[in-house]
Amino acid sequence: MIASATLDSLLFDNKRLLMIAGPCAVESEKQLMDTAQFLKQAGAHVLRGGAFKPRTSPRTFQGLGEEGLKLLSRARDKTGLPVVSEVMDIEHLNLVSSYVDILQIGSRNSQNFSLLKEAGKVDKPIILKRGFGVTVSELLSASEYITSAGNNRLILAERGIRTFENSTRFTLDVSAVPVIHDRSDFPVLVDPSHPAGMTKYVEPLALAGVAAGADGLMVEVHPDARNALSDSSQQVSFDEYTRLYEKARGIAAVLGRHF
Ligand code: PEP
Ligand code: MN
Repeated sequence: MIASATLDSLLFDNKRLLMIAGPCAVESEKQLMDTAQFLKQAGAHVLRGGAFKPRTSPRTFQGLGEEGLKLLSRARDKTGLPVVSEVMDIEHLNLVSSYVDILQIGSRNSQNFSLLKEAGKVDKPIILKRGFGVTVSELLSASEYITSAGNNRLILAERGIRTFENSTRFTLDVSAVPVIHDRSDFPVLVDPSHPAGMTKYVEPLALAGVAAGADGLMVEVHPDARNALSDSSQQVSFDEYTRLYEKARGIAAVLGRHF
């Protein structure tokens, strides 16, 4: 594990933007290690990867479970990057917590109040994603289930909401970034990958997020996106990631900030 003081200075430094990147799902040792090593040299701060995946259909890849968590832990040992992974239910809270540095609660569990209350008792930073049918006020209320259980190391993430527009997978609510800043002290991440749904829209949404004042990005990156076992149409390649990151740093600089 990464020491909590080191982790907190990375996650809660309000001058610095956080780059969290990695595959949608951990699929194999090679896929994860190649991605982790690439991201380390490309300047990312945190490695993401789903082990328990909240898939829309039960007939699709559900993640490697504990084996995926073990691979994430090995990737941290090799690269020094802290790792984040989603916890889907209370039953797996201790298991996931024993392997990761940061817990992620996904869009579909954004208002799973029993999970939020239990997660609030864990001594780990938590990324709480906004549900795609959840207002900003509801997200902030949900966050109080975590903080009132004693955990204030919270980061909120805008990942797109469902609107009448269907030309992208979800609609990135860029407005949520300044609104959440106005109403809370939590850092706000933008996940450009899930609203985009298509690789070609990930970069512009990421740049819009940074321009709106996001405190970081969470981007899905895969060494062979077309053959990914989940979210194959939206993950960016290593080259695409490099271009996106370069431009995001340029936008941050305009705002007097840096990654
Ligand atoms: C994810 O980030 O792995 C994910 C499933 O995203 P969301 O919960 O926002 O759909
Ligand atoms: Mn995904």
